[in-house]
Amino acid sequence: MKIILKNLTKIYPSRDKNKPDDVIAVNGFDFEIPDGKLIGLLGPSGCGKSTTLNLISGLELPTKGQVFFGDDDVTNLPPENRGVGLVFQNYALYPHMTVRQNIMFPLTNVKKKERLSRKEMEEKVLEVAKLVQIEKLLDRKPSEMSGGQQQRVAIARALVKMPRVLLLDEPLSNLDARLRLQTREEIKRIQKKTGITTVFVTHDQEEAMSISDMIVVMKDGVLQQIGRPQDVYDAPANLFVAKFLGNPPISLFKGEIKNNLLYIGDSAIMEKKLSDREVYVGIRPEGFEYDENGPLVFDLERVEVMGRDTSVVYDHACSISDNKRAIIPSETGKLICGDKVRFSIKESKCHLFDIESEELIK
Ligand code: ADP
Ligand code: MG
Repeated sequence: MKIILKNLTKIYPSRDKNKPDDVIAVNGFDFEIPDGKLIGLLGPSGCGKSTTLNLISGLELPTKGQVFFGDDDVTNLPPENRGVGLVFQNYALYPHMTVRQNIMFPLTNVKKKERLSRKEMEEKVLEVAKLVQIEKLLDRKPSEMSGGQQQRVAIARALVKMPRVLLLDEPLSNLDARLRLQTREEIKRIQKKTGITTVFVTHDQEEAMSISDMIVVMKDGVLQQIGRPQDVYDAPANLFVAKFLGNPPISLFKGEIKNNLLYIGDSAIMEKKLSDREVYVGIRPEGFEYDENGPLVFDLERVEVMGRDTSVVYDHACSISDNKRAIIPSETGKLICGDKVRFSIKESKCHLFDIESEELIK
């Protein structure tokens, strides 16, 4: 089921006397979520991810704009009539019910004449329990399960009515690191198997990049960029997106274009056919190439061996990022010695941004 957002806007009246302005939680969203894909809504805390999800589910009504599921305008439909499955960070299972009863609940909570037979309900519960691999735990209570298992039950409960759209709000945040990795792969597998259009909210860029077919990067209620994870990583639309994606983060410098050359400090780094101006230079950690004659000379802080790669922590007078780190293959990492290190820069890994607008300079 394709989801279309048209000028979708949510304004909350201010609750803070010191900040009397209304909060524009979601500001004029206009985009399409393609059928059958997993979309990651990504951005820092407070940027409007949950509000967007709640507008899609119907838990919130927009101040302006519309939501379509395919050709259906669902903008004013209550959540129960939209055909959405919801999963939240805190699994919100009913503690006094068994896993079976929890998963069955959405099937029993309908008008009598629409209700399936007991046998049909049992079959559906078993089907989704198998899908999320908890079919052996159906007689347990939620308190007798791990966080990862509880979240699987919550996903099964959201899927039991075969929703048109599955909405997940930071579903992995309460899990420890190992379970988080495992459960995110699980979500990807379930999504692929069912083919249900899924919107996955997270503030964790790695999580979003690793499982999404498409990511939507947001800041302060404003859409920053939408695209396939690799495309957004390779061509960030602005400085915010460049900084938000990637681990280790992008290295940033104050730079300058002079006579068709890009300078960082006194060093000409590469040719750039642009008019003279100051720029921000962003270089991905894998964009540094160890080169004894390279133009960019760094003070070497330390070298961290990671096995496959080597992490080079540097300093430079023009650096403006907190994390100053280049990643190079361990074979060349072995060659580094002394208190200086020289690099040449891969052009495809180097992005320039306008000083005023912070937009990518193409
Ligand atoms: P996220 O999920 O990305 O952390 P939210 O969508 O929860 O962000 O919130 C976006 C903005 O809207 C925040 O500034 C938040 O404080 C504000 N907000 C969210 N819900 C309400 C509400 N019910 N009333 C007033 N402001 C709200
Ligand atoms: Mg949220």
